[in-house]
Amino acid sequence: MRYATKLLLMVCLCFSASDKIVAATPNFVVIFCDDLGYGDLACFGHPTIRTPGLDRMAAQGQKWTNFYVGASVCTPSRAALLTGRLPIRSGMMSARRRVLFPNSKGGLPASELTIAELLKTRGYATAAIGKWHLGHLPPYLPTRHGFDTYWGIPYSNDMDAVGGFPNYRKAARQDPHYFAPIEQFQVPILHDEKVVEKPANQHTLTRRYTEKAIDFIKANREKPFFVYLAHNLPHIPLFAGEKYLGKSRRGIYGDVVEEIDAGVAKILGTLEELDLAGNTLVVFTSDNGPWLPFQTHGGSAGLLREGKGSTFEGGMREPTIFWWPGKIAPKIERQLGTTMDLLPTFCSLAGVPIPKDRVLDGYDLSPLLLGKTEQSARQQVYYWRAEKLYAIRVGPWKAHFITEGCYGIGPKRQEHETPELYNLDQDPSEKYNVARFHPDVIERLQKIARQHLESIKPVENQLTK
Ligand code: MG
Repeated sequence: MRYATKLLLMVCLCFSASDKIVAATPNFVVIFCDDLGYGDLACFGHPTIRTPGLDRMAAQGQKWTNFYVGASVCTPSRAALLTGRLPIRSGMMSARRRVLFPNSKGGLPASELTIAELLKTRGYATAAIGKWHLGHLPPYLPTRHGFDTYWGIPYSNDMDAVGGFPNYRKAARQDPHYFAPIEQFQVPILHDEKVVEKPANQHTLTRRYTEKAIDFIKANREKPFFVYLAHNLPHIPLFAGEKYLGKSRRGIYGDVVEEIDAGVAKILGTLEELDLAGNTLVVFTSDNGPWLPFQTHGGSAGLLREGKGSTFEGGMREPTIFWWPGKIAPKIERQLGTTMDLLPTFCSLAGVPIPKDRVLDGYDLSPLLLGKTEQSARQQVYYWRAEKLYAIRVGPWKAHFITEGCYGIGPKRQEHETPELYNLDQDPSEKYNVARFHPDVIERLQKIARQHLESIKPVENQLTK
């Protein structure tokens, strides 16, 4: 019944809004990594990991250097991307349980509208491939959230661990090439709503996800399509295919990233072969920063501070590339963007009216992507952790109201009466707190934060159900 109500709402959205419906229906491919750091690609400065596919994508497309996610851990970050909303609005972030687990009862509520559901109103074929992590019980699966088909793991690849996650951590810290027996992680693979493999053979997942994406693109070449390809790597435990294992100077983490890169190259190549490249926007990014306690098995945030789980830049700024040959001009884009902007951007490009019945946190980036403006519609970033606003960025200025490391590393939790203030243009590593020199900036940012907080309404928490 709830789904029927939502369908009706979607139909109404389609016909009642006054937005101009344009004829174009470009394809969209989102390639979303897991725990990839800002500094882990050659084109973002990594000295030993080889990423020729992504380097080409960046050279032909737009490399975004100030692009963020909606949260610094998996579940809320994914909710943000697919709904265009901060996960605090959908109940998809929590202080007690920061992500969903195999024993969780909740998931992305049926009342949320995803990119896939919105694009379906324009006849798109939609596929979710890879890690979902927005609820593994039937009411929350991709097939109930606008995706025609799903193939992948329902939560993180380190879950369902059999006797000894700490042993994995110890072994990983000792050996940069270590990988576990696949049976140690009993995570299943779902096809649509059925388990088809358990445990997943994690050595072959990256290759198989890429193949599934390519098959879907080929099968739907005649109609508009949206592919959400969410790799579950380089989140630990790390596994690489035979062709890549032991090949990178960076150890197995590098092997994994190089295999993902090869998959990106294959997808771009397929779009070119099918003569679809000029009508397909491909976006590459990751859900959150590197998981630093795993040492060489975790990635690198490059010059950014901290990593996964934290609201310092390393937790939430991601290496991001947009590619659409002939439509978006190659450049390095230094303006602000976030994964929440993808929903309104895709809607705008596909002629789908943007939902007016809810608060959206995304902005339409299409004028900036297409070179019609030099200013991003986004002028601020909110850094939420659990159920609190920890920090805010406006232009180059970032004020931290609360600072806290994560996973036992970094600074202890501290609430700041006078926020810490950093100028991210001049100090991207957040080293020099300049609060005492700029009380006016702090006052301005505090006011924007207060207004933002007033827009947050309490909802049922899905992660603690
Ligand atoms: Mg993650």
